[in-house]
Amino acid sequence: MEEERAYKAHVVVFPLDGQGHINPMLQFSKRLASKGLKITVAATTSNIKTIEATAGSMALEPIYDDCSEGGWHGQGEFKGYLERFEASGARRLTELVKRLEKTAHPVKCLLYDANLPWALNIAKQLGLVGIAFFTQSCAAIANYYSMHYEVLAKPLPVAAYPMPGLPKLGVPCMPSLGPETGRYPPLIVHILKQFDGIENADCIAFNSYDKLEEEVMEWMANLWPVMTVGPTIPSAYLDKRVNDDESYGFNLYKPNNDACMKWLNKKETGSVVYVSFGSAARLNAKQMSEMAWALKHTNYNFLWIVKAAEESLLPSNFAEETAGKGLVTTWCSQLEVLAHHAIGCFISHCGWNSTVEALSFGVPLIGMPRFLDQMVNAHFLQQAWGVGVNPRADEEGFVTREEIYRCIREVMDGERGQTFKSNAIRWKQLAREAVDEGGSSNKHTDEIVARIVS
Ligand code: UDP
Repeated sequence: MEEERAYKAHVVVFPLDGQGHINPMLQFSKRLASKGLKITVAATTSNIKTIEATAGSMALEPIYDDCSEGGWHGQGEFKGYLERFEASGARRLTELVKRLEKTAHPVKCLLYDANLPWALNIAKQLGLVGIAFFTQSCAAIANYYSMHYEVLAKPLPVAAYPMPGLPKLGVPCMPSLGPETGRYPPLIVHILKQFDGIENADCIAFNSYDKLEEEVMEWMANLWPVMTVGPTIPSAYLDKRVNDDESYGFNLYKPNNDACMKWLNKKETGSVVYVSFGSAARLNAKQMSEMAWALKHTNYNFLWIVKAAEESLLPSNFAEETAGKGLVTTWCSQLEVLAHHAIGCFISHCGWNSTVEALSFGVPLIGMPRFLDQMVNAHFLQQAWGVGVNPRADEEGFVTREEIYRCIREVMDGERGQTFKSNAIRWKQLAREAVDEGGSSNKHTDEIVARIVS
């Protein structure tokens, strides 16, 4: 039956693993599928297993068996993982495209996570349209781009995008990437590789929307053929035009959804502080204890996502002592939580997905970025979008209990709280407009489809 279906073209989608990478790329794939493209997702075995149940009409192809080789914790840790992933991925991606050449749906395009720049070489060698997908903000990428030219010791082709007051980017410790030798730590040097050959991409897509990053987009349009296609939130929450698109369908951890929803349903509108630091960032014991104190002493309810690996760092008896006003759980469906009327604000690490989700649901933010692009997102939420505040942090990013407590009060019931809320609602409306009929992201997606099909 599958052979007989008429598709406009076949796209292989190649995401990097990680919750924050898979979510937006799968979502964009659903949009492309809704516009008549056939989608095959090529990913690591562990990710394929997690996506499987919800893939719908998408085909799935494992291209690296990370399960048997220990993933990021296998030999050589992160560096070893990246090398094995590239070796296996490059070979199996090529084999996949060649195998599909002989079918009714030969591959026309490779849509790859920009963090996997070597995938573009494969696309070009095989004569495919190559589309880079950035899972971070345009501003974060603009900032990295300036750093890239510093490392190359060459002048930027255009004047740097100005971001006055942007704090120094923190960098997570990844010893396997080697010692620090140059201007930037090895992880940053690794991240900057995403610009290698990027000028050869046929199109560069962002999980963002025009109005949100209008000026950065204009700046970037001088460099590359950029297209915003976001927010890549399930259509059911925005324009409702894509069938069966109600959730991400991918969870690294098991969500305790029923418990969260039951608990939230009993809370008054706008009375809950939601706290989550995403899938990768971890709070240390000292920061956990400051957060715990602030949440315990506010007048508000709180829902705090404490991942299993962090649970032992909670102060003893915390859950029991705060049982009346707080719920601590290891993972939730963040979309359902943010969409709930009880949520008043979101204390976030400002991962790009979490940031865009908060904006798309009209939820004010308290930004506690831990590292990398999170610093840029936090900077923008306060300086550019007016949807919240960032507590003052010391050099190490440590924030005191009093400071967290002060920010919760300011966002939940301070004078400025109303302004943050109304700004957030405006971004929510603009997000919906962007993906709806006639909106900029919808238009860009159509342009991408036309480019693939041509
Ligand atoms: N998320 C979730 N449940 C949680 C916490 C996070 O579903 O309890 C999702 C969230 O909706 C977002 C993703 O995990 O889509 C995290 O991505 P983000 O870019 O914010 O941060 P990262 O995890 O990449 O640091």
